[in-house]
Amino acid sequence: MRHETFPLPGTTPGVSIGLTVLRFGLPGAGPKVYIQAGLHADETPGHLTAHCLRGHLTALEEAGRIEGEIVLVPVANPIGLTQRLNGVFHGRFDMADGGNFNRAFPDLVDEVAEAVGSRLGQDGVANVALIRTALKEALARRKPVSPTEHLKHMLLTEAIDADVVLDIHCDSEAVVHLYTLTPQSDDFAPLAAYLGAKAMLLATESGDNPFDEAVSRPWLQLQERFPQAAIPLAGLATTLELRGESDVSDALAEADAQAILNFLTHRGVIAGSAPPVPETGVKPTPLAGSEPLTAPRPGIVVFQRETGERVETGDVMARLLDPVSGEETLIRSSTDGVFYARCSGRFAHAGKRLGKIAGTETFRHGKLLSP
Ligand SMILES: [Zn+2]
Repeated sequence: MRHETFPLPGTTPGVSIGLTVLRFGLPGAGPKVYIQAGLHADETPGHLTAHCLRGHLTALEEAGRIEGEIVLVPVANPIGLTQRLNGVFHGRFDMADGGNFNRAFPDLVDEVAEAVGSRLGQDGVANVALIRTALKEALARRKPVSPTEHLKHMLLTEAIDADVVLDIHCDSEAVVHLYTLTPQSDDFAPLAAYLGAKAMLLATESGDNPFDEAVSRPWLQLQERFPQAAIPLAGLATTLELRGESDVSDALAEADAQAILNFLTHRGVIAGSAPPVPETGVKPTPLAGSEPLTAPRPGIVVFQRETGERVETGDVMARLLDPVSGEETLIRSSTDGVFYARCSGRFAHAGKRLGKIAGTETFRHGKLLSP
């Protein structure tokens, strides 16, 4: 393992923050895999899973079983990890400006299209090399200023030329679920199956350029812009949600790390034979079919269904109780699907997102992710 820590530029004088990157295997010897945890810094399950991966990858490297390179960033957001306000940890939004740490990653496709468009041909391997070089050059031309801009730039620089990218998150209370681009569904189906995921949410654009799509979408966009050229989806990326924020245990982290290693073995990044992919794999559904349950008025949230349950249209998902008037509002599902995530707080102000149901029918448009 090669351990590197890069100082984050732009911090306040006297304040030093570093981004630690762990590298396993040999660059260029095979596929490159990039894994990061905790871009939303208060999502701790990924941090523990990354710790387990670190131990396993160290042993696999010593055994000579890593075919290529695996880059692991165990703490992807050291800025967010420091953020506390009145004793409460805030790791999702940048306290400097309120921005979501997993949005607004650089969109490089216009510059890359301009640079390589006339040189793309029928040789897919050559095209991948050409596009990767252009992606790296376009990113290198960007001039980040704030510490968070530098952090995003550094993370994307590590990931932009990877074959496979896993961005590990969690929800508030949830079962394991994944987000990925629609045409990458088959590529990540084995990972979903090894993890026992209960939902896999697909879109060709989620909106606001989250990290995984900053890696994966340029390939899809270039395919659309240059339909005559042979362009594979060479940057497979997924946002992996490892249950809820309190689902932190040695057993879960170890099982999740093992599932990720099985997936990497299945893909040939780790030498050896992977266990058969479980057949209980999840059926992917459109992100545009994910129903957000919203509180129409303030009240105490009393959930009537557990995460992971299949629900039907009309099912009561929660009771919302106004403790002053005594009035009760029933929150019902308006779709059939899997209740894959819900909020952790039990008092809702009006408009609060209470939960999400993975339905099969597309009905939403525009920006599809939670704020
Ligand atoms: Zn997250």
